Amino acid sequence: DKRHIWHPYTSAVNPLPCYEVAGASGAKIHLASGETLIDGMSSWWAAIHGYNHPDLNAAAHAQVDKFSHVMFGGLTHEPAVNLCRQLLNMAPAGMERVFLADSGSVSVEVALKMALQYWACQGRADKHKVITPRNGYHGDTFAAMSVCDPVNGMHSLFSNVLTPQLFAPAPQTRYEQTFSEDDILPLEELFEAHHNELAAFIIEPIVQGAGGMRIYHPEYLRRARQLCDQYDVLLICDEIATGFGRTGKLFGCEHAGISPDIMCVGKALTGGYMTLAATLCTEDVALGVCQGQPGVFMHGPTYMGNPLACAVASASLTLIGQNHWQKQVADIESQLKQTLPACLSLPAVKDVRVLGAIGVVETHHPVDVARLQRHFVKAGVWVRPFNKLVYIMPPYIISGDELNQLTEAIYMALSKN
Ligand code: PMP
Repeated sequence: DKRHIWHPYTSAVNPLPCYEVAGASGAKIHLASGETLIDGMSSWWAAIHGYNHPDLNAAAHAQVDKFSHVMFGGLTHEPAVNLCRQLLNMAPAGMERVFLADSGSVSVEVALKMALQYWACQGRADKHKVITPRNGYHGDTFAAMSVCDPVNGMHSLFSNVLTPQLFAPAPQTRYEQTFSEDDILPLEELFEAHHNELAAFIIEPIVQGAGGMRIYHPEYLRRARQLCDQYDVLLICDEIATGFGRTGKLFGCEHAGISPDIMCVGKALTGGYMTLAATLCTEDVALGVCQGQPGVFMHGPTYMGNPLACAVASASLTLIGQNHWQKQVADIESQLKQTLPACLSLPAVKDVRVLGAIGVVETHHPVDVARLQRHFVKAGVWVRPFNKLVYIMPPYIISGDELNQLTEAIYMALSKN
């Protein structure tokens, strides 16, 4: 592993230590060394029902015995049809069409391409730019990267190849504060000045994830929706991290009572079993994209609609449909709100934020990831900090005791910082 394998965001020559996993079940990850860790990360927002779930296992087994994959060009199958029907039933009002993609980043590429093709097909090829708030994160492929935060999103490294986009200041009013009009003014000015060249506004609803774990006021999102309507700009909601209950609502945009024109989902779509994402859009967007020449949407990945992934995703959405997540996420939220603010007494800590099943501790200075991880593994928990953020988004099925162990380990780790 150390000699040949590249891990996410690590050096090939001086990698951070890695821990070998032998198994995982419920909210626990079992290491090959014999230790068991309580999982605080849901494998990056994905494993919402916990690991090794009997229903998801059964769905994978049943499908693998029928067929694992067939091309989606000219063929279709029950797992994809069932999944898309379920997705549209639970998605915000107005979502009518589904494009299945292979990862979150690809679903963002698809969303951006839809928006650009939509305007090109209306004879408005001049509407070719995307506007987005700073501190966003939408993936690591090139179009997705072009709308990530320009400072923490690697823009300087690729400045000569990234499409220049328009950046608005990040939303400042916190979720629980009274909304400040100053928060929306810069966005209003940018829309007014640039709407003739704007194809879309892309945003992570309510929680900006990897670009800073910032939780903002729903009014910002409502006003952004109004601006998009007023100036003919498509609203793309990236629900890849926030979707499927994580923020306490099924989708983040429900906090603001709005619907997007285009929406991306991924991560928890398969309950953390395998990679699958989807780009949803309104009938208007779909018809607009397919109007005139070429008359088709120009995208089609080889593994589009992979039946195995669709079958597991369908089983995951059935579990969500049983609605246990609402109480589970509410319980996690109230426990995090009771326990995590204790960290505010530590000199290393700058801020604590909680929404739904997300708990964030922001430090004044970047943390030593390798040292903290050693501490966490010794304490029997799995937390993967980055930069100044020590944060958790555990599986919804985590017990109160397990969650306490996670928050206590965070407190102890930062008290030694
Ligand atoms: N958008 C958001 C909001 C994300 O959090 C992520 C993943 N961290 C992505 C897009 C990219 O998804 P993927 O890693 O599956 O390509």
